[in-house]
Amino acid sequence: MRRTARRLDAALAGGTLVRAELRVPQLATADLRGMRVLGTHAHAKHLLTRLDDAGRAWTLHHHLRLDGAWRTGPPGAPGAPAHLIRAWLATERAQAVGVRVHMLDLRPTAEEHAWVGHLGPDVMADPFDPAAGAAVLVAADRPLVEALLDQRLVSGMGTMWAAELAATIGVHPMAATGGVDPELLAAGLTRIRRRMLRAMTTVAQRQRRELLVFERTGQGCRTCGTPIRHARVGAAPQDRPTYWCPSCQPG
Ligand SMILES: [Zn+2]
Repeated sequence: MRRTARRLDAALAGGTLVRAELRVPQLATADLRGMRVLGTHAHAKHLLTRLDDAGRAWTLHHHLRLDGAWRTGPPGAPGAPAHLIRAWLATERAQAVGVRVHMLDLRPTAEEHAWVGHLGPDVMADPFDPAAGAAVLVAADRPLVEALLDQRLVSGMGTMWAAELAATIGVHPMAATGGVDPELLAAGLTRIRRRMLRAMTTVAQRQRRELLVFERTGQGCRTCGTPIRHARVGAAPQDRPTYWCPSCQPG
């Protein structure tokens, strides 16, 4: 999401909106034209675009889920079928077209915590306190990967990074966090955060070569050669896959 936020900033930040179509019923009458775009902030997977309306601060909230995207470029054709466009923002010099963007909503910036206040500290945020994050996870005393994916505890980590974190610290993905050494967990958060930040600038192929366990079922562990296993965590339909080395991460 940070990448998307940076792209939106490159296109819109500092500019004044000359076009602002929000194609969702609840915002059909909102008129953002004339507002200045301050910038877009990513909080876990939520995107918050802050606007200044002559001294009054507004926040446009949006979320890409799995299928949404923002297309940015010089003003012109939207570059997407009309029925998929949820938002179309443009300044004099650039535009951003939101395709299948979800959860579009507008509130005064002072109330934006209503969208993200329930989320735990964002692993990608600067600063991020790994010791505090580890303490929350340990206190939850839940299966490690399940706790890592619960955005109310720590936010921003998906299935891939949760599995990779467990592998990094050599802990079984279903091990209860209550029994995990907080310092080890904090070190894991620090390492995975570094990899997440690096992944933003690394090509996908190289990132894949560095994965320890994610989507490597049946392939040899990079440390010991044992075939990687996979299982689903959490209750259906919210269950998600995770991966681990049964030798390096016994449990
Ligand atoms: Zn191993």
